[in-house]
Amino acid sequence: MAVVRQRRQLNLRLPLPESDRCPRFPLPLPPGVATASAGNSSAAAAAITCTDLDKLHVLGHGNGGTVYKVRHKRTDKIYALKVVHGESDSTLRRQVFREMEILRRTDSPCIVQCYGVFEKPSGDIAMVMEYMDAGTLETLLQKNGTFSEQELANIAAQILKGLSYLHAHKIIHRDIKPSNLLVNSNMQVKISDFGVSKIMCRSLDACNSYVGTCAYMSPERFDPETYGGNYNGYAGDIWSLGLTLLELYLGHFPFLQPGQRPDWATLMCAICFGDPPSLPDGVSEEFRSFIECCLQKESSTRWTASQLLNHPFLAKDPRSD
Ligand code: ATP
Ligand code: MG
Repeated sequence: MAVVRQRRQLNLRLPLPESDRCPRFPLPLPPGVATASAGNSSAAAAAITCTDLDKLHVLGHGNGGTVYKVRHKRTDKIYALKVVHGESDSTLRRQVFREMEILRRTDSPCIVQCYGVFEKPSGDIAMVMEYMDAGTLETLLQKNGTFSEQELANIAAQILKGLSYLHAHKIIHRDIKPSNLLVNSNMQVKISDFGVSKIMCRSLDACNSYVGTCAYMSPERFDPETYGGNYNGYAGDIWSLGLTLLELYLGHFPFLQPGQRPDWATLMCAICFGDPPSLPDGVSEEFRSFIECCLQKESSTRWTASQLLNHPFLAKDPRSD
């Protein structure tokens, strides 16, 4: 129960800054990026409408929206339907449109698929997504306990493939954390929840806005001057990945003791001024090194997603061949 309470409290969301409060649509793909990615949803989206779907039950509630398990009336296929209510504030509605735009443009087995988006007369916005039947890494941790190094190597490889795809397309996720990583019964892990993500229009765009869940935010997002280096934002996703994997290994958020109440100031001080979280004795050298590469406080010395894909830790995944 303490873990559940701590998790809820960790979800300390920050408001979108003014600079992010303008619609970014249509979102450009960077030069040289194939547009085939939009194909993942277009055919299916044309086929699905909201009236085709029967709501089965609620899968979960997020920041402003509800996710339902739904069944397609004709095909019996199961989907997840994320609904953001019409009366939600404009920031939330913008986040849904942002998420929708990004998901429509991505086509990777490591990123959750979006099959269509509807705006109902009531003003509700609904997004049809691939259904991930094992929940999230957060729910798996609560249900089954901590993950082994082998399992984490497999999970890390999948998230890194997703991040490397996103970063190559100049998309920064900005909210990588266990509850945004969906899992299915084949132990496929997919990145979801792009509500606060950002598409970099120019490769050198600064990206220092305070969005996302602050617990997983990297030091340079609090203090770009000290930890920023040649800050471009992508490294923030790697920091969040390192914290996520460590949390799945330890069973609690690494900057807090089990059951410790998080608050803004404690977290910020721990992230910016404290030592990076330490690993217990007994972990392999490969895992220790992998986490160190992710949790470099100075963003420019943190490894990139494509560098980490070649890290020896990933060889611990029995399926790595
Ligand atoms: P936050 O608002 O902080 O992002 P959240 O990630 O829990 O919170 P949502 O992304 O709206 O919010 O999702 C709510 C819950 O619904 C998730 O935690 C997950 O359990 C479930 N869920 C979301 N998308 C899917 C999906 N595609 N398949 C299966 N379950 C899903
Ligand atoms: Mg989420």
